Amino acid sequence: MKHALTIFRVSLLTVVLLPHALWAGVVNIEPGAASAKLAKTAQVHTTAFQIALADHPEFLKSGKQMRKLRAKLRGQTIARVEYMHPGGTRVYHGRSGHSIRSTLASLKSGNRSSRPSEGTTTSGSDSETSLVDLSDDVAADAAEQVYYPENTREDARARLLPEEESVVQARDIGDGHVHAWDAEIKVFRTIENDIRTGVVLPGGKITGYVSKTICASCRAAIEEFAGEFDVTVDLYEMIEAGKDLPRTPTTVIEKSQASSRHLAKARKIDVDHRIDPQRIGNRRHVSWPGEARIDAFFLEESAQRATEDAGELAACDR
Ligand SMILES: [Zn+2]
Repeated sequence: MKHALTIFRVSLLTVVLLPHALWAGVVNIEPGAASAKLAKTAQVHTTAFQIALADHPEFLKSGKQMRKLRAKLRGQTIARVEYMHPGGTRVYHGRSGHSIRSTLASLKSGNRSSRPSEGTTTSGSDSETSLVDLSDDVAADAAEQVYYPENTREDARARLLPEEESVVQARDIGDGHVHAWDAEIKVFRTIENDIRTGVVLPGGKITGYVSKTICASCRAAIEEFAGEFDVTVDLYEMIEAGKDLPRTPTTVIEKSQASSRHLAKARKIDVDHRIDPQRIGNRRHVSWPGEARIDAFFLEESAQRATEDAGELAACDR
């Protein structure tokens, strides 16, 4: 008994005295809720499509294509990742999927990657087929910065960056999807690029939110990143809700599911409003990190009220 107590004391002492460095590089992923923050990030990405559509007048003529685009945008995984480092804090705003140009092209041709991804359960399910060449799409994505607000010290768009020389690698996890366009890959590769170019410092702490469950490919890539750059990572993934979600969510999972459902509603309202042939052209960027009035939308509303206020939210970009 005395012996056991000694071991307990020694291990307690070890835990207390462990240097911080031993915790750095640890990745923790758990269910969470952050629908307002994610809705704002989604809004900036949707607005980029809204602005870009002015350069694709032929796309606007097809109601079917526009419907497919709305479904596509509602289903994309959104990631909002805050990096607190010794020199400051920067928030990275990512979405899954191809460049705007390739997204519109694949919806026009009606290939497999144009299928809406509703009803799926992981971010991987929103992944793209390999019909688009990654390096071509990297160039297209870079050119599309004009459709986004300028990056600031505090906020940045997560870009599609080349996979060569990156520790953030998408993997084949045997699910039939290509994960190179996952939102998390874009976010962590953009942070890696910022660290390598001195925009931010290594050795910081990440707190992030992802609108769907994080796939095995992204988990492995994030762990590589965390180890390489000595970064502690806390990520909260939102669990998609089934039909049996109780009215009053109590568990962590149920709260995450309720939040996921709120986010889906807010995104549908915003996407239906913006991706409308009547509202394309001469649009202003929505500044990072998205419009503050979305917060009120989530704070005040039950799901019922949210639907009633659809018109109010829809008027927000005037
Ligand atoms: Zn993934």
